[in-house]
Amino acid sequence: MGVQGSSFYEIAASDPGRPAVLGPDGTVSYGELHAQVNRLSHALRGLGLGPRDTVATVLGNRAEFLTVLLAAMQTGLYLVPVSRHLTAPEIGYVLADSGAKAVVTEPELADVVVTAAGDAGIADEARISVEPVDGFRDLLDVEGSVEPPAERLMGSLMLYTSGTTGRPKGVQRPILNISPEKLFSAMRRGLASNLGLEPGDGVHLAVGPLYHSAPCAHAMMALNLGHAVVVCRRFEPEGALELIQRYGVTNTFMVPTMFHRMLGLPDEVRGSYDLSSLGMVFHSAAPIPVETKQRMMDWWGPVLYEYYGSTECGAIVVATPQEWLGRPGTVGRAVDGIEIRIFDEDGAELPVGEAGMIYARGYSGFEYHGDPAKTASAMRGEFYTPGDIGHLDQDGWLYMSDRRTDLIISGGVNIYPAEIEAVLLQHPAVADVAVIGVPDPEWGQQVVALIEPVQTVPVQGGSVEGGPVGSGPGWPGGPGEELVADLRAHCEPRLARLKHPRRIEFHASLPRTPSGKLSRRRLREAYLRSHG
Ligand code: ATP
Repeated sequence: MGVQGSSFYEIAASDPGRPAVLGPDGTVSYGELHAQVNRLSHALRGLGLGPRDTVATVLGNRAEFLTVLLAAMQTGLYLVPVSRHLTAPEIGYVLADSGAKAVVTEPELADVVVTAAGDAGIADEARISVEPVDGFRDLLDVEGSVEPPAERLMGSLMLYTSGTTGRPKGVQRPILNISPEKLFSAMRRGLASNLGLEPGDGVHLAVGPLYHSAPCAHAMMALNLGHAVVVCRRFEPEGALELIQRYGVTNTFMVPTMFHRMLGLPDEVRGSYDLSSLGMVFHSAAPIPVETKQRMMDWWGPVLYEYYGSTECGAIVVATPQEWLGRPGTVGRAVDGIEIRIFDEDGAELPVGEAGMIYARGYSGFEYHGDPAKTASAMRGEFYTPGDIGHLDQDGWLYMSDRRTDLIISGGVNIYPAEIEAVLLQHPAVADVAVIGVPDPEWGQQVVALIEPVQTVPVQGGSVEGGPVGSGPGWPGGPGEELVADLRAHCEPRLARLKHPRRIEFHASLPRTPSGKLSRRRLREAYLRSHG
């Protein structure tokens, strides 16, 4: 069915009965969601929040996140979606750093948020919960008009990156003096069309954490295209397949670990779901081994769309499934208006085929909240770097090697952890893996592989935070010597000797962020602590 209007607010006004949110508790229509959004907008104004003020959420994936998002977007506010996995002091840091004047949460997280909001000096009446809980106002228990506010100004997001390379940074996109309709239709012409998303009766599965930039942007795009959104509270490999089948999901955003976990399901489970509704599955955020992506496309068909970018610059290069199948391993080619260049550490441009720092220009602006020096350090003139190393081929296709901070230099040779991880992941006993570089007196750094074996391989308790649960050879009772020998034999024909892990350790679980990223920095610190 055609969609009338080019923004959520227009679609809600012209086609109020259209389904906006689908879930086990029923359907919320665009009209109903719009009414909730308007009531919350009035309530936020009533709390004294005006243009360019900040409202934060500390929420798991749930439909109400969309209400707060759309209310902030028409009230000229910065929305700061905070990770629900952080501790009270970490949340307090983000609330204080962003200058949040109100916070929206849910009962499960209320205790942590009370402490964090207290530390950040947020007024008691500006603590809001999506369900009744002591000490919080109810999200919709406000006397407010369901009509749009008289003055409307497009808000923006201030997203804190996951901090895999340091303390979380608030990435702030400017608030422009334009209406929500105008900015949302520009987004539809720009981002959605770059990614090939069309307005219509699509169904989007929101399965990644909505406080992260890509899942949040996808949910927002879906609601500006007239699609219905299925909000999945937490990813489970079989649960995701069940949701795709049940709701006839047409597009979603996932991260590579989700693919890996779904591929790990028994064949008969994988084969029992009808996934034919899926037309576009986007992925980004972390490297995907070529083999994993190939296996996903063998299973789901040519539906995997990749993009590369960061919270700061958004999606700057894109690869359709057909483009990727023609050149496996690419992360894509620059979208309209973006120019990609590769520079060496001294700022000299590198020729085609040579790996160096990836830089881009032409994206919409950003700054690190309250840290102009940090903003400047990510720039070289008009060019910004996400901090990754990669190269371009002669047709402008970008290949990413790894993050600059994770690069291992051993005996003067550059070694990219992602390449070694991709090889180890092919081994059937490996559920997850992180490769890190640790100091070595002779080589400068040496390669260490931290491996989470599949559950059928016995692992004694413990995790990386508490030190290794075992390491081979000679570790009694665990995967030990035999598996180490097997993994070494697996690397032999696939990796040059200097890339072979010098040490292999087994861990009960490896800490990945909910957005699928490995914090190699934290793993390295934990490793060095536990090895004196
Ligand atoms: P921090 O910068 O604090 O460490 P972060 O890494 O979570 O946080 P994001 O903006 O979420 O910051 O992630 C951007 C990074 O994700 C990129 O710099 C890159 O390393 C990685 N990335 C994004 N897309 C891809 C892709 N298609 N393939 C491989 N890696 C990707």
